[in-house]
Amino acid sequence: MPEIADKFLKQSKLKAFDLAHRNKINFNIGKYNAAFKKGLLQYNNLDLAKSRAANIKNKVVNHLDTYLIDFEQNFTNNGGKVIWAVDAEEARKEILNIIKKHRAKKVVKMKSMTTEEIELNAFLEKQGIESIETDLGEYIVQLANEKPYHIVTPAMHKSKEDIALLFNEKMGWDEGLSPEEITAKVRLKLRDKFYNADIGITGANFLIADTGSIALTENEGNGVLTMAMPPVHIAIAGIEKIIPSINDLDLFWPLLSSHGTGQRMTVYNSIISGPRKGKEIDGPKENYVIILNNKRSELLAQKEQRMALSCIRCGACLNACPVYKNIGGHTYETTYSGPIGSVISPWMLGMKDYKHLSFASTLCGACTEVCPVKIPLHDMLLLNRRDAVAQKHTTSVERIMVKGSSKFLMNRKWMDFFSGKTKRFFISLIIKKLWGNNRKFPPVADQSFHEQWKEKNK
Ligand code: SF4
Repeated sequence: MPEIADKFLKQSKLKAFDLAHRNKINFNIGKYNAAFKKGLLQYNNLDLAKSRAANIKNKVVNHLDTYLIDFEQNFTNNGGKVIWAVDAEEARKEILNIIKKHRAKKVVKMKSMTTEEIELNAFLEKQGIESIETDLGEYIVQLANEKPYHIVTPAMHKSKEDIALLFNEKMGWDEGLSPEEITAKVRLKLRDKFYNADIGITGANFLIADTGSIALTENEGNGVLTMAMPPVHIAIAGIEKIIPSINDLDLFWPLLSSHGTGQRMTVYNSIISGPRKGKEIDGPKENYVIILNNKRSELLAQKEQRMALSCIRCGACLNACPVYKNIGGHTYETTYSGPIGSVISPWMLGMKDYKHLSFASTLCGACTEVCPVKIPLHDMLLLNRRDAVAQKHTTSVERIMVKGSSKFLMNRKWMDFFSGKTKRFFISLIIKKLWGNNRKFPPVADQSFHEQWKEKNK
């Protein structure tokens, strides 16, 4: 078994039996579930909204080449600069070039999974650049020197007591501070960072092709400040973040907010169309968008799985997934976790090392059911499994076992030759270890269905 898969299994086992972890996740996802239910009440016909969103995103994914060029042209006409990055290394290099050009020393950041994907903070730190996360959850995770636990709520695995303790350890603040008091103190600290930052870096929830704009969605106002206060704004986005028209936000903004946090609309929604112009007094003087591929084209090349690029990163499939809820976000050791992570990571990081994620599913379909853009996630997990086998990412023992057992199972005479007791013995001998000690192995009946049928209809 590859090392990464082995670590995943060991870590999953630890987390699944960690009661404190389970209680925190259940509490936080319980709160999300209640809000999610309320957020959906704004829809008279949710299914229709989801179908429309799925159609638009399908169209985009199938014509990405055209939409991306439209975006580039329109954003450039607005005075912005588009940079194409083939992988994480190139994206980091381009960001560093901008930083050097502006002799920047201080960066403020808005929460962005794409910057997590290219490990930007660690890179900037090595270059001697201060890079501060300004979303409260992300700030907490940065302070704790951890990776985000969830694509929408990065500190979901921490209770309010854990967070108070963290600020006590790192900042010397009183351990008994309430969440409101902590928020107020962080707010003051960050205000200073915004004033003094040379560059603001954000992700992009959507890149709007027809107006050449970036749409940002957030709840704390830190995104607006990150984008508008420093003289330079860099947005980094995957190639799939395109939507055709500004009018589509009418559909996508409420879908993202209701599925992401259960809100009818997120508190702050900004549309940025290039740098400040003419006599405008607000906004960055220079505005860049880095469009990142980073193996997304591998996924695009898969006719059946490419629709996973429709994802709007709402996180609803993570919250619905029984596997995610038990093993937690960090266990995946990928930027994107949960069902969507299990579908896309093998293509983005390599099937050989990450195929195990497509097998870590009950295939219950809860993820597919909640997805606002109707990605058939559990079907895609099966397709990934098929492709992993077709690409021969299986051991010779697995291949021999599957070949042998299918020969045996397809042969009625052999099936009836052994008694239930013998079958039980062999099955437990072969797969008991895989089945694990924490669940009871289902017994094999003494008589097969074929034998019972024969006996009944003598
Ligand atoms: S796959 Fe669907 S449910 Fe999961 S994060 Fe993406 S849009 Fe949301």
